[in-house]
Amino acid sequence: MERFSSAMSRRRFLYTAGATTASSIFLKGCLGNPPAELVGGRTQAAPVADADSGVKAGQEPEVKTAKLGYFPIVESAPLIIAKEKGFFAKHGMGEIALDKQANWGAARDNVKIGASGGGIDGGQWQMPMPYLISEGIITDNVKIPMFVLAQLNTQGNGIAIASKHIGKNIGLKLADQTAFFSGLKSQGGQFKAAYTFPRANQEFWIRYWLAAGGIDPDTDVELLTVPTAQTVADMKRGAMDAFSTGDPWPARIVADKTGFVAALTAEIWKAHPEEYFAMRKDWVDSHPKATKAILKAIMEAQQWCDDFNNRAEMAKILAGREYFNMPEAVIAEPLMGKYNLGERTIDDRSMAVLYWKDSKGSVSYPYKSHDLWFLTESVRWNFLPKETLTNAKRLIDQVNREDLWKQAAQELGLAASDIPSSTSRGVEEFFDGVKFDPENPQAYLNSLKIKKA
Ligand code: CA
Repeated sequence: MERFSSAMSRRRFLYTAGATTASSIFLKGCLGNPPAELVGGRTQAAPVADADSGVKAGQEPEVKTAKLGYFPIVESAPLIIAKEKGFFAKHGMGEIALDKQANWGAARDNVKIGASGGGIDGGQWQMPMPYLISEGIITDNVKIPMFVLAQLNTQGNGIAIASKHIGKNIGLKLADQTAFFSGLKSQGGQFKAAYTFPRANQEFWIRYWLAAGGIDPDTDVELLTVPTAQTVADMKRGAMDAFSTGDPWPARIVADKTGFVAALTAEIWKAHPEEYFAMRKDWVDSHPKATKAILKAIMEAQQWCDDFNNRAEMAKILAGREYFNMPEAVIAEPLMGKYNLGERTIDDRSMAVLYWKDSKGSVSYPYKSHDLWFLTESVRWNFLPKETLTNAKRLIDQVNREDLWKQAAQELGLAASDIPSSTSRGVEEFFDGVKFDPENPQAYLNSLKIKKA
């Protein structure tokens, strides 16, 4: 009987697997994948610079592949769309492998060993991870030089709060809520705020939001790192009060009635820098044309992603089992700027994740002034020594390769108006009125009331 049922389930498995393969092939066709001869180059011996591939003479990439890490949050959309809509293939990189990372620590470890060691060549990063890896700060003092090559997105992140705090006025502005936080602390139930990787974007957004409201993130609350897979469950069982993450997770937390969203990062800092595309320096140095081919594909994907007419299709692609593996509806709404925050709603496309252009300029171009903010904020919280600011220009010039972005943009034939003329986006302003002038980061630090530096 046992043998019979296992034979049956095996047969059923084979049948199901066959059906899935067939339907996924069908689906891929619908998603506009390029024909096989462009993808693999295996079915015919056409040169890479085939007329159909869109690769211009002299720009043929050295290889067709690279292994890039990504995460199931909207930041990775340019990478996934570049693959699914055929932009990588168009630029001769049809064999790019996208590798979903279990968590940020795994991505760090994978880039440390590189694709040749079974890891990755680069991919999606929070800031300032490429700097911390380049300097050996989070890689056991082993320096793995990396290049920041493009910004993937702005906005599209939020701070979710557990349901038990609904109705307690926990919103963008916390100025009148210091008693709430100190009350929790005195009762022995200190407010716990979590993120999936320390000392990068997600922790910075939580810290900025709390400190702007007069809450000292180092003494008034408890900050903790929680593995990605545990975040929603931990919030559900009350192990944490707040959680900072990328779309569609805040919407999912609201949909699950696990919590509400106190603030979108777009409210904390409109058009803020978010996540980046960065690769190992040794890979870029040995594949300069392939690097530019990848950048051109990402730029075209970003333009595609920024068209709201494409966002329903984008939601469908991202939701797919091989990518985010979640209900399409959960992703579709935030992609359209429709946020059910639990206690309020937002319906404003300018608040959604953006990939190509925002109210301040280019999204894709990696402004050096933003790298400087991430380093300055690291100094603010004593994550990096204050001498970092003295050496910041040298460090940023080493890691940020906006020059390669510009070369790729020119090869792509972008309009001059799409190519920033300065490496600085100028003075930035936060929701609490604080300003960051990249010409004077020390003045920013001086202006902040809560800091460790
Ligand atoms: Ca993020």
